[in-house]
This record gives sequence, structure tokens and C-alpha cells, in this order.
Amino acid sequence: MPAMEELRDAFYKYKDNEEFIEEFNTYLREFAGRPTGLYYAPNLSEKLGCKIYLKREDMLHTGAHKINNAIGQGLLAKYMGKTRLIAETGAGQHGIATAVIGARLGFDVKVYMGAKDVERQKLNVFRMELSGAEVMPVDKGAKTLKDSINEAFRDWVANLDTTHYLIGTTMGPHPYPTMVKYFQSVIGREARKQILEAEGKLPDTVIACVGGGSNAMGIFSGFVDDEDVDLIGVEAGGVSLDTDENGATLTNGTEGILHGSLSLVLQTDEGQIKDTSSVSAGLDYPGIGPEHAYLKSINRVEYVPILNDEALDAFKLLCETEGIIPALESSHAVAYAVKYAQMPENKGKTIIINLSGRGDKDMFTVAKELGVEV
Ligand SMILES: *Cc1c(COP(=O)(O)O)cnc(C)c1O
Repeated sequence: MPAMEELRDAFYKYKDNEEFIEEFNTYLREFAGRPTGLYYAPNLSEKLGCKIYLKREDMLHTGAHKINNAIGQGLLAKYMGKTRLIAETGAGQHGIATAVIGARLGFDVKVYMGAKDVERQKLNVFRMELSGAEVMPVDKGAKTLKDSINEAFRDWVANLDTTHYLIGTTMGPHPYPTMVKYFQSVIGREARKQILEAEGKLPDTVIACVGGGSNAMGIFSGFVDDEDVDLIGVEAGGVSLDTDENGATLTNGTEGILHGSLSLVLQTDEGQIKDTSSVSAGLDYPGIGPEHAYLKSINRVEYVPILNDEALDAFKLLCETEGIIPALESSHAVAYAVKYAQMPENKGKTIIINLSGRGDKDMFTVAKELGVEV
């Protein structure tokens, strides 16, 4: 509790502090490469009979929206006088974002990563190490993301004086879900302004993929008060929704507490957390940010699952029509946009897809799925 209280107090102290905001915005602009474009996709639009815009978070430094939050929390840790950052990472994207901001701001960085993931993601481990981070394989439990989160919490409790735990998505205990949304809300602010400039009106629909929920919360926050804008979150359905192993927490989850928040959780009847599986490691988490569970409960956001094969088809479609190689996570959002556009009632609608990241990291996975040797 003291750790959460110290962090909560610091977040509320600095979140509207002029100097802090100014520094945050400078890093977003000069280190991360903001603002990102809102790109009208002419070929995809013509093919689908809708107006499709892509919010280009894939153009950011380190390849995804995660850098926005890593900068925000890294700066906050600096303002708090901390000297060390810890993080947990599944596929490695959040670990890389933490490692680079750690290098830039002069922190010691330690990244916890499931032993299985360390093996599967060697190149990402090397990237983190190049930026000076120590990568700690976690050999406990299923040796994946959920177990790394447990280890990071243990480290934090033991090293509270020096250390900030930089969580990468809108999960965990307060203030994390609120704070991560706050740092990611720049996506929604930009997108709202950009679509008004381009179209002179708000979009009909905004679609984003949902892992823990940060890129979706970021873009939804710009439109959640506009009741006429439909918001759709797309989760990982894995190979099939009928198996136990999928990441469709909002579709199949039940109320429960995981890693410090009450939300929807994939669990057995006895309350044991289920192992999830998706072709996109970033969507592979058995929980979901609590605000998404809330937005579902009040019917403000619709949540839908997309299967691995559908995401792969959408991945290829975007490569071929627009020359843009999306992350497999983002491909889930594209895949649902394709389905959505084909429903007769949605013909001609203006749709923003949040393209949360680029596909460079997924080349080996995609090649394997397509049966191609690289
Ligand atoms: C990590 C990641 C996600 C999923 O995380 P959220 O917190 O749900 O946004 C989505 N897309 C990309 C490219 C990612 O790296």
C-alpha cells in the first residue's frame, strides 16, 4: 500500500504541473516523434466502401504506442527522485520502451521476462541489453507474462526507496489504469483534432485492439463523451473461441481480481487464472483494464473477438492495399474493421482504426504462419 500511495500522490501532484507537462510534451515530440499522422487509406477505403483512416502510432520510436506511457512514467519517476526502473514484458515491446527511456533519463533498468519469452524473443532481449537494461528471466509458474508481473511486484516492494515499477498497460492497482490512460490520451486528443480538420465532423466509429487496454483507452478517451461515435474494442480470440486458450477477456471473462484490480478475468470455476494464447503476444493477457470492464458494463463500448487467422488475413490486406505493415495486435483492429464495413448498415461510414504498432517485430511469426522460410 505505501508504494501505491506514494505513486498516487506523485501522479496527482504532477499530472497538471506546467513544468512536467511541458517536459512530457517535449519528449513526445522530439524523442518519440509526435504528433503521429491520421492517414486516409484510399485503397482500403475503396475496397471496403467506407472512409478508413489510420492513426499511425506505428510510426513512433520503438514501433508502437507504448513509448508514450514509458516517457510519462519515466519522467514521473525522475520527478519523484527515483534512480531505478523495473518493468515486466511479454513479447518485449514494453521492455524496449522502458529500456530506451531509461537510457535517455539515466536510470538503472531491470526488465522481468518469462523464461519462455526470453527464449522466444531473443532479438528483443538483445535490443533491451543494447540500451543498458538488465533482462531477468523468470523461471516460475508458466514462465510467461503473468509470472513476470508477480516477480516485478516483489522487486518493487523490496526496493521502494529507489525504484519505480513502470507498468505498460491500463492494468494493476490504482493509480496505474488511470495514469496509463492519462499518458496515452494524447492519441485521442490528436485523432479528434485531425479528423475534424480532415472531415469537418467526428467519425462514425473508432476501432482499436485491446490487450491490457492502453492504446484503446488512449484513442477512446478522445471520443468517449461524443455519444454518436461508436467505439469498438477488439480482443484476441486465439485459434478458436471454443478452446480455453484465448485472450478474449471481455467476451469470456467473469468478475474477479487480478494484479490489484477488480475487473473481468479469464478464470476457472475455482478462481484460478487461465493461461491465454494468441498469435500476437501483446494481446495475450488473462485480465483487462478495469475501465474497459466498466465501459462494457454501461454499453458505451462494444467488444468483439477476432481469431488468429482473421488477424493474419487483415495483416496481408493492409500490406497489399496500403503498403503498411501493421503489428499483429493492430491487425486485429483492421480485421474487425473489414467485417464491420461489410455489414450493409455500415456502408459509407467514416472509421478510424488505431494502428497501435508496426509489424517489424512479427516478421518471423508471420513467415511461420504463412509457411515461408526467411
Ligand atoms: C502491447 C501492444 C498492444 C496491446 O497493449 P494495450 O495496452 O492493450 O494497448 C497492442 N498493440 C501493440 C503494437 C502493442 O505493442
